[in-house]
Amino acid sequence: AEQQLRFRGTVIRGFGRGSKELGCPTANLDVNSFPWLDNCAIGVYYGWASVPAARPGAVLPAVVSVGYNPHYGNTTKTLEVHIMDEFESDFYDSVLNLVLVGYIRPMEKYDSLDALIAAIDADKAFAADKLAGDAWAELKADAFFSATD
Ligand code: ADP
Ligand code: MG
Repeated sequence: AEQQLRFRGTVIRGFGRGSKELGCPTANLDVNSFPWLDNCAIGVYYGWASVPAARPGAVLPAVVSVGYNPHYGNTTKTLEVHIMDEFESDFYDSVLNLVLVGYIRPMEKYDSLDALIAAIDADKAFAADKLAGDAWAELKADAFFSATD
């Protein structure tokens, strides 16, 4: 049987710390809405996401980080969703539905920006490979992804 973690939340503002500049905008969700996130390993996950208000009917591959925000001296956990598709505009305050289906790696510190970007690229490639194919058709058709509030 498959194990999946489901999240539904409104996209909040992060610190805009250059995720977009890294070519990897991340839609942040409020971790306080998900107390059981404390039981999840810190690291990078992959899964499926929808933002019906911005992309009606679409269920899109995503790379997700559960980590600590350096801005708060590594004490505050963040949940950040990079959707592997292009959006015409930002979708803050919209509902995002997320199902995590796999774990990629723990968080690491990188020696350089280039090393970090290479790691992110590798995460995206790994996720794209795992999420390809017909195996996900049933999950992607789940009504969970249609909710807008
Ligand atoms: P913040 O620090 O506010 O989270 P980011 O630089 O991480 O800023 O940008 C995240 C925002 O970019 C999201 O909240 C969303 O509105 C927008 N966005 C545009 N394209 C994407 C995408 N492919 N995946 C995730 N967010 C995206
Ligand atoms: Mg972000």
